[in-house]
Amino acid sequence: MARAIYPGSFDPVTYGHIDIIKRAADIFDELTVSVLSNSAKSPLFSVDERVNMLKEVCSDLKNVRITSYMGLLAEYAQDEGFDVIIRGLRAITDFEYELQMAQTNHKISESVDTVFLTTSLEYAYLSSSIVREVARYGGDIHNFVPDLVAEQVYAKAGIDRNGKQ
Ligand code: ADP
Repeated sequence: MARAIYPGSFDPVTYGHIDIIKRAADIFDELTVSVLSNSAKSPLFSVDERVNMLKEVCSDLKNVRITSYMGLLAEYAQDEGFDVIIRGLRAITDFEYELQMAQTNHKISESVDTVFLTTSLEYAYLSSSIVREVARYGGDIHNFVPDLVAEQVYAKAGIDRNGKQ
């Protein structure tokens, strides 16, 4: 039975992430989506808030669970018995960093391999930072994230709108 982990910041989760989650959940027996608790970044949402949003948007996916982790991904993956790390590739610009990370992780934990899923074309442009940026200026983010996420992004950004004109 293959167990996979999809790590990321998910600050916030977007339709691009959800696309990767659904496709990975179809391929692997068990998928754990794990929020990186990284003290070096100053995220918009706390780890708990990101975990809770992921739980809500993944609630209908029976073989998906949500966790968070700190420290080295490769060690966490090995300690928790994951076989595969899932990462999404949007563009060639993602590739160099992702290749370096995958090779480093494999060097640290030889039992763990990285599998890349390429983005669906409709989400190729989409990133959490774009969502945060558009919301900061009061733009409509409902095409980028589920409604429950959009509400929380606007609330966090102190913007009184539901993205409707
Ligand atoms: P990180 O800070 O680890 O890059 P992100 O939350 O930005 O975390 O992304 C987590 C993973 O999801 C990464 O592998 C990233 O390439 C992938 N990803 C992000 N946005 C998209 C998208 N629109 N389509 C496909 N994959 C994506």
